[in-house]
Amino acid sequence: MRARPLRRFAALAPKAARAVAAAAALLLGLTAVAVPLGADSAPFHLALGGPAPKVANVAELRAFLDELEAQEFMVYEASALEGYYQWRGREPHFVAPFARFGNDLRNRRDYAALIERWRGHVPDSTLALRLELHHRAFLQSRADPQLVIALGDAQNALQDSVNAFHYRVRGEAKTLTAVTETMVNQSDRGLRRDAFLALSQGAEAHTAAIVHCMELNDRIGREEGFRNGAEAGLVFTSLTREQVLRDLDAFERGTRPIMLALVARAQRDLKIDRVEPWDLDYWMHLQETAGGDDAWPRAPGLERMTALMKDLGFQPDSLPIDTRVWDVPTGGITFPIRPPFEARLLTNPFTGSNFYETLFHEYGHSLNAVLTDAHLSPIFLLGDETPMSEGLAECLGHFAYDAHWLERAAHVSPDKARRLEQVGRLQLLLWLRRSIALNAWFEVTAYGNLHANLDSLYAVAYRRFVCVELPPGRFFGYRDLFGTGPLYFQSYLYANMIATQLREAMRAQWQSPDLSREPRVAGWLTRFMFAPGGSVPWPEKVRRATGSPLGTAALTRYLAGAMPSRDGRSSP
Ligand SMILES: [Zn+2]
Repeated sequence: MRARPLRRFAALAPKAARAVAAAAALLLGLTAVAVPLGADSAPFHLALGGPAPKVANVAELRAFLDELEAQEFMVYEASALEGYYQWRGREPHFVAPFARFGNDLRNRRDYAALIERWRGHVPDSTLALRLELHHRAFLQSRADPQLVIALGDAQNALQDSVNAFHYRVRGEAKTLTAVTETMVNQSDRGLRRDAFLALSQGAEAHTAAIVHCMELNDRIGREEGFRNGAEAGLVFTSLTREQVLRDLDAFERGTRPIMLALVARAQRDLKIDRVEPWDLDYWMHLQETAGGDDAWPRAPGLERMTALMKDLGFQPDSLPIDTRVWDVPTGGITFPIRPPFEARLLTNPFTGSNFYETLFHEYGHSLNAVLTDAHLSPIFLLGDETPMSEGLAECLGHFAYDAHWLERAAHVSPDKARRLEQVGRLQLLLWLRRSIALNAWFEVTAYGNLHANLDSLYAVAYRRFVCVELPPGRFFGYRDLFGTGPLYFQSYLYANMIATQLREAMRAQWQSPDLSREPRVAGWLTRFMFAPGGSVPWPEKVRRATGSPLGTAALTRYLAGAMPSRDGRSSP
């Protein structure tokens, strides 16, 4: 289905770190002898495999956390590099053993016990937050370490298989990107249909491995004391399963009229009896290219992005960001190799606004990483929870179809720029309903009973969120993120609530309708969002920057204007 699939911020942080574990026996020192801290002026050393220290006061607690976080950060940095090589197709790589090493650290029950003893008993709010983040990170130590290690290994094997997988369409081998591009660009409806049906090949190949990962994740979550794997995973985003289901439901009902109008319009314009899943992206492509010109040619993409970033007040020429167009089995992916000193991004060679949106989105992740305050404790350098990290990426991504920017960068008339922005908003609506809300609802619901018929559940979800019937067959298994990045999908819905609320707030605070030429954007985002990294919880960042808690109002307003009126001017 359409691309704009998933743009993932690869962070070892919470979830990948769970991927882990083996030599736990070596490190687990439950019976270890406590050693005193700070006996002399030498720096405290947390010995590998040694006992947990005896921590008698706040100064010793700080020394312990500083050393522990440096070790965790070492695994994070090394894993980010290995992950990058894995996605570039380099072999052999060491993603799995590095993940096992990281999980050995997070599986230590003696460290977890030490953290629990101090949690809630320190006066300093920054130290309290560090303890809180460690508390969550060490939840996995409550589960059988072998399960945690098994999950990490299974996720890594699945990722390798997905990266190497090729689909066959009419005898030709194609990457996932090529398959989705066929559904966007191909006027031959039969060929689009064959491309869509080919997606079930990925599902056939990976469904068993995905369900295996989900089951392991579920068992670990239950052993940690949660009702199921979904509850356990959502803790890392400060959300609950009930809240996510409620918000998905509200979003679905609120945007259903626009979705139904979109499907009806596609049916009329394409002169077909019934809209099928392989028709929507092609119809969207026709809207983007109406009038003959493509406002989003791929060739000048990087140049246009650099110019935009300068207009926003960033200094892209001196930022340590490596940007590469590379065919990956997702939209794009950013590796914050070493915040704030280096970030690398891979973005797909898509067509149209999708290419620009994904490129800007990934660049937003990279800005977030390299503009973090270098002096933060290492645990805060790992960045925000996913609703905010994706929200900041989307905040930049929305510029890809910003009418003011299009007018200037693509040299189109103000009227055409407005129409193209509407198409962009429609693309966002379709993506949020079909790629995000549908999958999030399916995943969070599935954890209620992993033994239910998941193919049927997916078909029900597809009908509800896409308002189009899925053909018979297996499809959910081509979304490998259910296995490789559990409980990630819903982040993008909250991300778009954040992105629209931040953009509205900037426009209102400066009374500046055209953000694309507003050099205060860089300073504002850096001060409120990028610099503090994980040291300020994301709901608080939103309140500080916008004066209000996160809500749905801005996103609703943004999407309400998506559907062009029937009377013509806005419709090709
Ligand atoms: Zn992202």
